[in-house]
Amino acid sequence: MTSVSPQPLIRPDKDRFLAEENPFEAMMSRFDYAAQRLSLDPGIYKVLRAPEKQIIVAVPFQRDSGEIEVLTGYRVLHNRARGPAKGGIRFDLNVTLDEVKALAAWMTWKCAVVNIPFGGAKGGVVCDPSTLSNAELERITRRYTAAIIETLGPDSDVPAPDVNTNERIMAWVMDTYSMHVRHTVNAVVTGKPVEMGGSLGRREATGRGCMIVTREALRRLRMPVEGTRVVVQGFGNVGSVAAQLMEQQGMKVIAVSDKSGGIYNPKGLKIRELVQHVRQHRFLADYREAEHITNEQLLTLDCDVLVPAALENVITRENAPQIKARIICEGANGPTTAGADRILEENGVFVIPDILANAGGVTVSYFEWVQDRGGYFWDEETVNQRLERIMVRSFEEVAGMAARHKLNLRIGAYMLAIDRVAAVHRLRGLYA
Ligand code: NAD
Repeated sequence: MTSVSPQPLIRPDKDRFLAEENPFEAMMSRFDYAAQRLSLDPGIYKVLRAPEKQIIVAVPFQRDSGEIEVLTGYRVLHNRARGPAKGGIRFDLNVTLDEVKALAAWMTWKCAVVNIPFGGAKGGVVCDPSTLSNAELERITRRYTAAIIETLGPDSDVPAPDVNTNERIMAWVMDTYSMHVRHTVNAVVTGKPVEMGGSLGRREATGRGCMIVTREALRRLRMPVEGTRVVVQGFGNVGSVAAQLMEQQGMKVIAVSDKSGGIYNPKGLKIRELVQHVRQHRFLADYREAEHITNEQLLTLDCDVLVPAALENVITRENAPQIKARIICEGANGPTTAGADRILEENGVFVIPDILANAGGVTVSYFEWVQDRGGYFWDEETVNQRLERIMVRSFEEVAGMAARHKLNLRIGAYMLAIDRVAAVHRLRGLYA
């Protein structure tokens, strides 16, 4: 990136969001910079930074004990210029309106980067699912769905799973919505069980997308795929699938971690065995066949590719100078703080940004929505081939934008996305 510093020219409330970890700041600082490089019209800038709709609801529910409690739920629709809003629902104690707003905007850019006809949304309920029974979770899900029902619908707002929500919960959302509108509407959510209109290949889609863009990055940097040393943080849906598929491509996964810690073997780990181990024992901590390391050590290991696929804000100003990977593939949302970006760039690290790297999930969610609406379901090979085509094309478009403007891929991705959303706003005009 050139050294032009992002000027808060248009944004009046920048000072409120100074903390490096603030997710809204992380998003807005990149957005501001990209908007400036695009010479975005100030009017469109104002439209794009304001979420279209923010809903706060009370979610009363009855505990199994009979006691009544009231939780807070949010749903933010950031922008629907390009199509229905798309974005997950998370159940977590850390959910805040600021976070949901940032994540909703991220979804707008992510859908535009892969050029699928969706806008961005996000939702959440402030709760600790580990303290809730299945029956309590179901009551919360159904009441939250009923509370935001006016926004939902295949043509307006389509949720999906996110932190601590899964296909079981999506089935309850779909059922609640369908009971309200008096007929079955499976296209109202994605990430559903395959038996009720989910898509084959959805579960693996995000990890598969990470593998595809990493392979493309290696090709671009003229690095061999065979023997490339990979380190993966997070061994859940995204991390474990990315590790397996990268191994299948001939890469050597030398370290992986989960919240119990990391394991390392410079000769390469046996990923299939680790998946079995986690299936049986839940965590990697007691796996015997490798050296144990901390998550902090894992991030700074000598390797070619680092895949942060667990949490946000793990690569910061503090540890960025020690990162030795040549490529970072952001499987998680927001794993790199804005402060770390510049350090990584100075050190020549090639970062495949989250809004491109983990967009495989929303791409196959789009396929699910298309299949539900068409009532015609594709085989897994078709899903994977179409995903491959979109990820490769998107990587080339982002890399092309970045190269034309002599910027890094992150700003290139934001520019591509903002340009696409702004173009639709210009064409549609302002409804008065
Ligand atoms: P998951 O719950 O399946 O897995 C998360 C993994 O991270 C687990 O292995 C967990 O043990 C590990 N983890 C948790 N805390 C950790 C810590 N402090 N240090 C190291 N590891 C830790 O979640 P997931 O679906 O794989 O999602 C991971 C990330 O990818 C999230 O940021 C999510 O928003 C993002 N993402 C997921 C998808 C998807 O389709 N699942 C799509 C886009 C983005």
